[in-house]
Amino acid sequence: MSQEQPFENPASEEKEGRSEHPAQTGTADPGREFEGAPVDPRDASCDVLIVGAGPTGMTLACVLCRYGLRIRLIDAGRGPTPWSKAQVLHARTLEILEQLGIVAPFLARGKPLHTLSMYSQDCKRLFHFQIGEPDSVYPFMLSLSQHDTEVLLIEQLERFGVRIERQTRLVDLRQDIDGVSAYVQRASDGSEDSIRTRYLVGCDGVHSTVRQLLGIEYGGSTYRQRVLQADVRIDWPLRHAEDEVVGFVSEHGPIGAFPLPGEHRYRLMVFDAGMGPTLENFQFLLDSRGPQGTRVSDPAWMNEYTIHCRMTTRYGTGRVFLAGDAVHTHSPSTGQGMNTGMQDVFNLGWKLGLVLRQGGQPSVLNSYEAERVPVAAKLLSTTDATTRGLNDLLTLYNPVAQGLRNALLRLLTPMGMVQRKVSRTLSMLDIDYAQSPIVAEDHSTRATGSVYEEESISLRSWLAFGGGPAPGRRAFDNEVVDVGGKGEERLFSLLSSTEHTLLLFVGVHESEDAYQRVVALARSIRDRYAQRIHPLLVQVSPQPLGPQIEPWDGPLLFDRGGAVHQRYGARADCLYLIRPDGHIGYRSQPADLNKLEAYLQRIFF
Ligand SMILES: Cc1cc2nc3c(=O)[nH]c(=O)nc-3n(C[C@H](O)[C@H](O)[C@H](O)COP(=O)(O)OP(=O)(O)OC[C@H]3O[C@@H](n4cnc5c(N)ncnc54)[C@H](O)[C@@H]3O)c2cc1C
Repeated sequence: MSQEQPFENPASEEKEGRSEHPAQTGTADPGREFEGAPVDPRDASCDVLIVGAGPTGMTLACVLCRYGLRIRLIDAGRGPTPWSKAQVLHARTLEILEQLGIVAPFLARGKPLHTLSMYSQDCKRLFHFQIGEPDSVYPFMLSLSQHDTEVLLIEQLERFGVRIERQTRLVDLRQDIDGVSAYVQRASDGSEDSIRTRYLVGCDGVHSTVRQLLGIEYGGSTYRQRVLQADVRIDWPLRHAEDEVVGFVSEHGPIGAFPLPGEHRYRLMVFDAGMGPTLENFQFLLDSRGPQGTRVSDPAWMNEYTIHCRMTTRYGTGRVFLAGDAVHTHSPSTGQGMNTGMQDVFNLGWKLGLVLRQGGQPSVLNSYEAERVPVAAKLLSTTDATTRGLNDLLTLYNPVAQGLRNALLRLLTPMGMVQRKVSRTLSMLDIDYAQSPIVAEDHSTRATGSVYEEESISLRSWLAFGGGPAPGRRAFDNEVVDVGGKGEERLFSLLSSTEHTLLLFVGVHESEDAYQRVVALARSIRDRYAQRIHPLLVQVSPQPLGPQIEPWDGPLLFDRGGAVHQRYGARADCLYLIRPDGHIGYRSQPADLNKLEAYLQRIFF
């Protein structure tokens, strides 16, 4: 939902005695006695304690605020990172920021990048590639420094009334059946304190204290390559579009330059340089790998660092969870590290909201790890292959091999399929949770156990539904008309970021029978799941159907031209339950109340 206001606090509470988690301690040193004041284990001073106010922790805070949860956000540091570090926000992350109602300032401050090209040192273009995914309203990468991203998140949190507790370091934690006791030290006055919380989320980065206290291994390897990065002014003979990421190939290896906001400003990136981050070295690297006559100056940030390829296969224990760099770190070659952390907590956040505010089963929280570990595993293998493969491909000494490589790069340019695949992966729109234990579908040729037992679905309609977004996938966006509401809108802007959205399709033929069933289903769900499920009826007609029937008095979407029906394969009546994170939780054809209820029982009751 694009609203810019925090969510009103609904009244419901986590159910008593619901926890499935056994009593356990999260401390690495069970014998350690904490000197702070003893806490009453039944007194929860907050619902969720977030450890770490980097991009991951602050995004989680933004999500949880919308549920009206009592959160605390602590950070060992003094303020946001002063450095630019992660420089891009991908399409999926921008969609998430939109759903949180906070995307506008990011778009205003960042610079959209639409294409990527590789050049030879004499500025001949070898490869050109469209970054944008037409499936998103953000068909670009947004160039914005991590410093700016963090500052904008802090500003949003201030609007939500969240104060980050700075210079407050988590040093220990204990968990039991009711909650977690966290022990913190404040650097400002040296005091120690304890915080009692129902859940704790460690967003405390690569060296995560929370991960260490849980005794979770951070397996993987360290590259021999290092990354050299700098935010600088570059003056060069290359003429290129403002929104183009550029790279050069040479016998000494590749060098990449991301345009930054500001004139002639770029992020320079070199792998395997093995030299210090000085302006002279960047000039040397551009002289040897880039076009002749290039001048680099005015550095805002220069850094050299070691890349690790590490992840955990556990994303928490009991009431303690981990997210972001605390559970995965990898090569920055695709610029997805920070984005993945923000997406981790968009997945975890709605589940915490569901459990703490909407009567959801705590077992739903187990799906966080089940859904996000495969995402990190795939990301690590992709970035590993990209880092090693690109470096080998783009560093060739033999002129014959260089010629072949350049011809191959030129061949790739017109290959739409290859570009589409790379673009979807980069945009992070293709992440799906198909193997999740909490997604499901009922797709039958004949409805059973209900009033329309005898009604068959045509093969054409059945096949069409198969082509709609499968359970676990990101929902499809499209233009719709919100009848009696906001008027012409995008479907995504009508999805709730705190409730499930139930899309109910009557089908393209709009039979009165189907309409009657779908409306009855919508009413039943609205009555039983108020503030948890938001039903939206989608029709190819602009007004309520069925003169004999009491019309649907809830939100009605007019699908002019039937494009939404087509994308969702809704020739016949069907339903899609879209989770607050924008992924399909459940779908059925036909729209069947009993089957939907059976699914809901699994996650809500
Ligand atoms: C030099 C450098 C360059 C990078 N370049 C890129 C890039 O180009 N592209 C890219 O995608 N990624 C890049 N990254 C990685 C990117 O910065 C991270 O992926 C991102 O910061 C992860 O966010 P996070 O919130 O999970 O963790 P962090 O940003 O590390 O935040 C963790 C927070 O937890 C706090 N904390 C730690 N321990 C405790 C404790 N015990 N108690 C309380 N608070 C604690 C810290 O103070 C910190 O504020 C780079 C990283 C570095 C270091």
